[in-house]
Amino acid sequence: MVERINSDGLTIYQEGTTVSERSVLPDQFGRFLRTVFDEWVRHDVGTVFVQTFEATLRNWLHMGSSGMCVFNETCGTGLALEHNGDLFSCDHFVEPDYLLGNIRERHMLELVSAPQQVPFGLDKRDTLPRYTREYDVRFACHGECPKNRFVETPDGEGGLNYLCPGFKDFFHHVDFPMKLMGGLLRRGREAREVMAVLDRADAGGRVTPGTP
Ligand code: SF4
Repeated sequence: MVERINSDGLTIYQEGTTVSERSVLPDQFGRFLRTVFDEWVRHDVGTVFVQTFEATLRNWLHMGSSGMCVFNETCGTGLALEHNGDLFSCDHFVEPDYLLGNIRERHMLELVSAPQQVPFGLDKRDTLPRYTREYDVRFACHGECPKNRFVETPDGEGGLNYLCPGFKDFFHHVDFPMKLMGGLLRRGREAREVMAVLDRADAGGRVTPGTP
């Protein structure tokens, strides 16, 4: 969880540049992803489905959509409907600035296509800082979720993702097995074959992404 502390000390809105004590640290998050991935890629590919790993593989295959809004170039189709009929831009932004209207007063289709909703989704791409745009794993993260973009890049530009160091760590770590799985799938084989390939590599065999 990444929980931002607002200027009044509360944690209600996606505002503020500091996080609460119970928020995960970026390097902790990266370590968590790496640890779970290492277990999965050795034992569970094809039997246990982890959404983040599936989305990562889709981006390594450049499939157009990762299947997860946070890892896509743009977003804006994950709206949130409250019990009273209020419709918000996203379930991570259920707050006054992102209220589109109420479905008891206006048709949901009209609200979904409201003038502020399209830019909400496009901003995910259009507000990326240069540091992220030019980074080698940009194709995998696309800046992740805008709700977490509240720190500065090393050159002082705003809008860097708070979790960026953890994601970079994770995406660099999985590069080789992702290329292996991508190579298998492109040749009509199954991603789960990666487990045997890695076992072979452990036993001293030579393994490259193109020839598993
Ligand atoms: S703001 Fe974040 S959670 Fe909401 S749709 Fe965009 S990427 Fe997904």
